[in-house]
Amino acid sequence: MTQIFDNPADFADEALDGFVAANRGYVARVDGGVVRSTEVPAGQVALVVGGGSGHYPAFAGLVGPGLAAASACGNMFASPAAGQVYRVAKAANAGAGVLLSYGNYAGDVLHFGQAQLRLNAEGIETRTVLVTDDIASAPLDQLEMRRGIAGDLAVFKIAGAAAEAGLNLDDVERLAIRTNYRTRSLGVAFDGCTLPGAQAPLFSVPAGQMSLGLGIHGEPGISEHPMPTASELAELLVTRLLADKPDDAGNRVVAIVNGLGTVKYDELFLLFGKIEKLLVAAGLTVVEPECGELVTSLDMSGLSLTLLWLDDELEGYWAAPADTPAFRKGNLAPRARRELAGPEAAVASDVEHPTAASAALGRQAAAVLGQVRDVVVEHEEELGSLDAIAGDGDHGIGMRRGVDAAVAAAEQAVANDGGASAARVLTAAGEAWSERAGGTSGALWGSAVIAAGLALGNRDSYTGEDAAAAVTAFVDAITELGKAELGDKTMVDALLPFRDAFLTAFDDGAPVGGSLAAAAAAAKTAADRTADLRPLKGRARPLAEKSLGHADPGAVSFALIAARISAHLDTAHKDTAQKDTAHTDNRLANPELAKQGAQA
Ligand code: ADP
Ligand code: MG
Repeated sequence: MTQIFDNPADFADEALDGFVAANRGYVARVDGGVVRSTEVPAGQVALVVGGGSGHYPAFAGLVGPGLAAASACGNMFASPAAGQVYRVAKAANAGAGVLLSYGNYAGDVLHFGQAQLRLNAEGIETRTVLVTDDIASAPLDQLEMRRGIAGDLAVFKIAGAAAEAGLNLDDVERLAIRTNYRTRSLGVAFDGCTLPGAQAPLFSVPAGQMSLGLGIHGEPGISEHPMPTASELAELLVTRLLADKPDDAGNRVVAIVNGLGTVKYDELFLLFGKIEKLLVAAGLTVVEPECGELVTSLDMSGLSLTLLWLDDELEGYWAAPADTPAFRKGNLAPRARRELAGPEAAVASDVEHPTAASAALGRQAAAVLGQVRDVVVEHEEELGSLDAIAGDGDHGIGMRRGVDAAVAAAEQAVANDGGASAARVLTAAGEAWSERAGGTSGALWGSAVIAAGLALGNRDSYTGEDAAAAVTAFVDAITELGKAELGDKTMVDALLPFRDAFLTAFDDGAPVGGSLAAAAAAAKTAADRTADLRPLKGRARPLAEKSLGHADPGAVSFALIAARISAHLDTAHKDTAQKDTAHTDNRLANPELAKQGAQA
């Protein structure tokens, strides 16, 4: 039971503040997480780890020389938002690129993925290595589907040591991938865990039983067993992991016995002793093992065993020194403190000078977002009911939360002295959308709005080609991040026909407004047709049969939004065209922009 808090809603934030206060020699708080508070040699790859809170010492406790450069910290058991990951990675970047590494969970993949797209678009080279060590979560031939548990430590340690040694991003990434490939874990739980303020545990294990393979957030295990003796438990864990060992494994292993929250150290040590004997009996040499709490799950009663099969290169990096709040190894010379700009300073120094054309486009973008909000509000209930058929019923409310936040952020950007560029308005809006909406669609919409903004940039003038580039960037962001394909029954089934119809009409010489009208019509037809499809992605997948005969909520909301934007731009165009017939570029939806573009 978690008992010490004022307001459970502030638990993660206040715990992180206190952690930083207690470990100021190691870490400093930034918006979204923590970074090292000590000097980082210039040109060092930044390993940025993260995930939900409630897993200490993962993830903030592993920030320091020889290990992570920073950690993005989400709410309790919830992924950090893309904007948080982005800001933390930006603060950690030392000029040699960023490696994002975290356990394989859908929410984390979407949010870290969105941050990665944005960092790359800004020229900060960013890669990702997912940790997939939990053998209970998928069979060996689907390694990439497995989730990440205590194997996080193995991958982070080796990547962090490689970064510390000055290796470049390619090499740090290669070693992290290899470490993950050679790491296996299996966990057991004897009892559940309770989120701060919750009345009941997230899950429970019947008394006298042990659940094998239960995830660190209570995801279902693979089997239930009567509580074994320590010797039986050691035997079970070792046998299962050895049966899953990687190709060309070799015979040198790191063994990590990890306590999940409330198992005493004495018990962990007792078990470790038995495990080591079994490993030695199996012909293995145990190299620099770990036994203690490394990746926990609040007050969960349980533990896991991780094995990392070493090779010479990995062994060197595993043995290298590291100095973090929760994980220390060998000796590292003390590092000088560094001055970090506070989050406010970072924002203030980031002033932009929007061109007249881009500021006009920024105003138009904010107005368009207002229309998007109106149409979402009008259909909020309908979208919720549609999502309730085979999903979780939150599509209406999620879209509403996201778009409300996006409009507020856009209006704030536009209200700046001198306005804001289209890029600034839309990146602020997309970031707010993703942070507030929650859910899959929030991360995807946020990312797409940001991508469209980055495509529009802050230019002296705009033509229809820029609109086409923004449409393409919007769609690409969603397919890159969500990885859904045509026919999977997601919003992509409306998006791709939308983009294709837009580009076809535009290439045939239609103006932006006309191309958009054609595209919106194509999106509507395609969204209606998703009723015939079975969902292959997203939460609706397990309820495929129920979903047949009903359109996909994300596709429907996209089509509604596309139609509203098209109608709005058409009206805006007619209004301005009546006042001013002197078009500089008659293929632009809004002649005001072309005029300002010509003047700028
Ligand atoms: P959640 O599924 O997290 O509850 P929402 O209910 O807000 O989020 O959104 C559901 C919609 O998200 C689905 O109808 C589908 O259109 C879209 N979606 C889900 N997964 C993907 C994906 N991988 N790629 C594109 N769209 C997706
Ligand atoms: Mg939903």
